[in-house]
Amino acid sequence: MDEVRQQIIDLLRRNIRNIPDFPKQGIQFKDITPLLKNPDTLELTSQVLARPFRHLDIDYVVGLESRGFLFGTNLAQDLHAGFIPIRKPGKLPADTISATYALEYGEDTIEMHTDAFNDGSRILIHDDLIATGGSAKAATELVEKLGGQVVGYSFIVELADLNGKKNLPGDPKMDILISL
Ligand code: AMP
Repeated sequence: MDEVRQQIIDLLRRNIRNIPDFPKQGIQFKDITPLLKNPDTLELTSQVLARPFRHLDIDYVVGLESRGFLFGTNLAQDLHAGFIPIRKPGKLPADTISATYALEYGEDTIEMHTDAFNDGSRILIHDDLIATGGSAKAATELVEKLGGQVVGYSFIVELADLNGKKNLPGDPKMDILISL
């Protein structure tokens, strides 16, 4: 089965393209739109993302705006979990809590609804890509502030040189499909 998973992941890898100097000079942007466009990789990606978490009784997948929404809802559906969006400031309509984290230049803030889930809910945090890990760490803070338990992290791609994993707590299950 691991061999099949590896073959699927190799197919997924071929459907991620690198766009140099986007959105600014020096950034190698990992574009997942080909993964979404191909019906086979669209279906396979959420299945492969879900499998390591099937036995973990996930209550909610928390997806990070905006590319964490693309597979996050499918992933939640595959795990028979709910989906909760984390968004940029001012986008969520009801009461929110927020977390601010440092970027290379400046800082960023993310928000989640205060009534997103009940105390003790089992949460899987998902995004398309982990770079420094700053946004996933801030998402962890929000989940924990509301009394949720982060039991897993799921990313399609990691930028291996940045080793963002080191900025996240070690206990939850971490699944990354592709290291670039
Ligand atoms: P970080 O908080 O540093 O882990 O950055 C992760 C977030 O930034 C994710 O939401 C990614 O979609 C986005 N991101 C950062 N770097 C890249 C990149 N090189 N290609 C595509 N998305 C990126």
